[in-house]
Amino acid sequence: MSIKDNYKAIQDQLPAGVQLVAVSKTHPVSAIQEVYDLGQRVFGENKVQELMEKSPLLPDDIQWHLIGHLQTNKVKYIASFIDTIQSVDSEKLLTEINKESGKNNRIIKVLLQVKIAAEESKFGLEIPEAKELFQHYTDGKFPNIEITGLMGMATFTDDEQQVKQEFLTLKALFDELNQLKTLNTLSMGMSDDFPVAIECGANSVRVGSAIFGRRDYSK
Ligand SMILES: *Cc1c(COP(=O)(O)O)cnc(C)c1O
Repeated sequence: MSIKDNYKAIQDQLPAGVQLVAVSKTHPVSAIQEVYDLGQRVFGENKVQELMEKSPLLPDDIQWHLIGHLQTNKVKYIASFIDTIQSVDSEKLLTEINKESGKNNRIIKVLLQVKIAAEESKFGLEIPEAKELFQHYTDGKFPNIEITGLMGMATFTDDEQQVKQEFLTLKALFDELNQLKTLNTLSMGMSDDFPVAIECGANSVRVGSAIFGRRDYSK
């Protein structure tokens, strides 16, 4: 299937009100432009360097989301243009984003990345840490950012029950925090598990390979 067919097929599976973040990491600017020309405006990248190389070559009205682990010392490189940082996993990082956001006279949107997977390797805040950080935010500690929601990745497994459990755990936290201050984005689900994520309450999905094809890391 072509990128165009893939994109249309994904769109057909998304209920109204579910945002699609097209994950373009490792794929060339030409492929991103192709999806842009089909109407997509929200794209996700996971590396600062790659984002900085590609973004100047593409239209200005793309809303870039950073979805990969972000080092504190790299926030300054993206603070002037990033729309949303989905991968906030420490208070130190949030403090830095708040600072750089202020310097740029912007309000950067962020999602707290919460660790819901059983795997040791996945980044993210533990649930109590996420609650504490959100509390500091509602107390007014980070005036230059807006926490718009939560992001999580399920375990990479065929066990759909487990995946569902993990997504529902994040949905429950989302509902709890949403009572303290309104949130609008629950980002869960990738190419292989986005239908389950939507069933569990996701209203934003991050889809890469199902649109752009498999990633080739050898290049
Ligand atoms: C790469 C990536 C995705 C997209 O993965 P696909 O399986 O290609 O859809 C989604 N979220 C994050 C955090 C990623 O790093």
